[in-house]
Amino acid sequence: MSVYVNRILNLKKIKAIGFDMDYTLVRYNTEEFERLTHQKSLAKLIELKNYPKEIGLLSFEFNRVIQGLVIDKKKGHLLKVSRFGKVKHAVFGEEPLAYKEQDRIYRNRVIDLNDTNIQSLDTSFSISNGVLFGQLVELKKKGLALPDFETIATDIREAIDLCHADGTLKDIVRDDVKRFIVQDADIVRVLERLKDYDKKLLVITNSDWSYCKLLLDYAINPFLKEHKDWSELFDITITLASKPRFFTGRQAFLAIDPATGLMSNTFGKIENGIYQGGWAGKLQDDLGFDGDEILYLGDHIYGDVVSIKKTFNWRTALVLEPLEEEVAAVKASLPVQSRIDELMIKKEALETKLNNMDLKRKEEKQEVDRKDINKLFAEIEKINEEISSLLEDYRKFFNPNWGELMRAGQEESRMADQVEKYACIYMAKVSDLLAHSPKTYFRPAKRVLPHELVE
Ligand code: IMP
Ligand code: MG
Repeated sequence: MSVYVNRILNLKKIKAIGFDMDYTLVRYNTEEFERLTHQKSLAKLIELKNYPKEIGLLSFEFNRVIQGLVIDKKKGHLLKVSRFGKVKHAVFGEEPLAYKEQDRIYRNRVIDLNDTNIQSLDTSFSISNGVLFGQLVELKKKGLALPDFETIATDIREAIDLCHADGTLKDIVRDDVKRFIVQDADIVRVLERLKDYDKKLLVITNSDWSYCKLLLDYAINPFLKEHKDWSELFDITITLASKPRFFTGRQAFLAIDPATGLMSNTFGKIENGIYQGGWAGKLQDDLGFDGDEILYLGDHIYGDVVSIKKTFNWRTALVLEPLEEEVAAVKASLPVQSRIDELMIKKEALETKLNNMDLKRKEEKQEVDRKDINKLFAEIEKINEEISSLLEDYRKFFNPNWGELMRAGQEESRMADQVEKYACIYMAKVSDLLAHSPKTYFRPAKRVLPHELVE
């Protein structure tokens, strides 16, 4: 897979590289982990929020939701939104909203991600959240006694947060790491190579020290060639960083003794070692680098990427796991797409002909043969039918419920828009950097604007 470039990035100029851990340095078996989150969150809803026991029978369906969707908490809908904030597809429970209904509710609305009624499903960790929401809304539609949609959304959020925070999920991962974590020797090759080129490497994760050690021991240590332990690769490891607050607030750093896990206050310079908390401003000062000499790689478009660009001028790389499938599907669907493009050109020519005949009739009082008009309409209708059936074929290459990750109809999805605005480069996995030397000058392709498409 490739590394995709939005903005010029000269790796030669980068002195420090920070990595997020979960879904960046460490790859997950997403379906398995999200199935676990789904099951454990249902149990919490029953146990702590008095939800009816029947919900425990729900089974996890990975394909029901894709990254980048948003929840309309008031209406109980899952939405796919374009880069202009327009709703392109809405699902109510487990059924797509009828087009007329969708149009009535959303035609004059622009979805604002800062609206408290809107919840973004931004990472691979949020798939279970979307699936649970759809399923519980569906059960409520069918008459099960459940709270209003907004409360359902909040309760699910809280149940999932608890599963992540109280050890419910992490204890199970600890007992069976290989079921949930994907080892990728090439990530380790990339890290050792970057180290060899004298880059300062850092980990900045929201996970706690013990989980961080568990996963990095498993994902990195077996593949090290020139080092004994992952801690030799990373100069500074920051755990429980509370991103995005790490990039906006001013939390104190605590030093962690890796031998005992004990923490102590630290007031001096942040130097080699393991820490908890802290904030990016002090880290950058103590590293002694300018913002644009630091590159940060993470999977969370908001927590890892947007927040950095809005506060510090660090360079950013997004690791977007579902991109691998998306690129394969785009490639596989090319013949269908080309046929659709061909037909669209034909259709536009026929429409122009029809409109021009009408203009002549109106402005030049030219006689128009009704038969000619009907013939044109019939040809356009035939093309429409073919396009409809091709679009159905096209959709089959992507998620059956939501289509592409990066497009919403013809337009870019709001996910694609954020990626383009805030991520200097993006890729499906860190090991995609293996194809590029640490001296690479990443340059974007020139974007063609509509007026530059000169015929
Ligand atoms: P990072 O990606 O390495 O910064 O860490 C992600 C951490 O956040 C992991 O420890 C996850 O278990 C945790 N996490 C992910 N999603 C949620 C959530 O929805 N609620 C609470 N914690 C989460
Ligand atoms: Mg992450």
